[in-house]
Amino acid sequence: MPSLASKNALVTGSTSGIGLALARGFAQAGANVTINGLGDAAPIEAERRAIEKDFGVRCRYSPANMADGAAVTAMIREAEAAFGSLDILANNAGIQHVDPVEDFPDDKWEAILRINLSAAFYAIKAAVPGMKARHWGRIINTASAHALVASPFKSAYVAAKHGLAGLTKTVALEVARDGITVNAIAPGYVWTPLVEKQIPDTMAARGMTAEQVKHDVMLAAQPTKEFVTVDEIAALAVFLCSERAKQMTGGIISVDGGWTAE
Ligand code: NAD
Repeated sequence: MPSLASKNALVTGSTSGIGLALARGFAQAGANVTINGLGDAAPIEAERRAIEKDFGVRCRYSPANMADGAAVTAMIREAEAAFGSLDILANNAGIQHVDPVEDFPDDKWEAILRINLSAAFYAIKAAVPGMKARHWGRIINTASAHALVASPFKSAYVAAKHGLAGLTKTVALEVARDGITVNAIAPGYVWTPLVEKQIPDTMAARGMTAEQVKHDVMLAAQPTKEFVTVDEIAALAVFLCSERAKQMTGGIISVDGGWTAE
């Protein structure tokens, strides 16, 4: 595993699922980590302490709401002040809502665009000046296979993730000579609470059982017929932070069991 000792990382949406695995992956490689996300205080504090105890790094928690651009900016400033720099930024927070476009609630559209796309813009905008000054930075956006292809009933999510792919490529070009790489990881179906929560909505939208949704909808698109694991995503993210990955930038890197090859 590459060493990220002396680096300071921040992962949005890291109280659960992929984000938690990213935070633990960076910490395992030696980075101090700021975690962020929603949830009850006690389990988040237990997770924060576990990261410090398991990996011997510093870990702090930011409760910033990714739907609020000013809060995102403040979160980056506080992380820089607490650890002295922000070297690795993983924009990972994301939510989902499934409905036909004509029934899609306006507030869900707005929330998904804010949390899944605009939060990454505000975080990148705040983090890039410090990365440029130190001539080193790694920005990793958790996109999705839905950054490359669409599925019905997910208009906001697919729009936001396609937007995140565009943001990734644009910023990669802007900072290409500043020692900063910007990439997106595009997972297929990863077994996390977000996927589990989609099952009832998809059951209702398509009139299916839970098993049918898992195998005929989710894994139908995934030629390997296996869910991606959060540890596989974290291992790739740690590699993207290594010196060996410094020519990898502007990529939308699929980890989707072959989904988008079809
Ligand atoms: P999850 O629901 O397990 O975790 C989402 C995280 O985001 C949680 O920590 C939650 O607290 C946080 N979050 C949600 N709204 C927030 C807000 N307003 N402010 C701050 N934090 C907020 O989901 P996951 O499956 O781990 O998804 C993580 C990312 O991976 C998302 O961007 C998602 O779109 C993407 N993704 C997931 C899959 C999958 O199959 N699970 C596939 C492709 C992409």
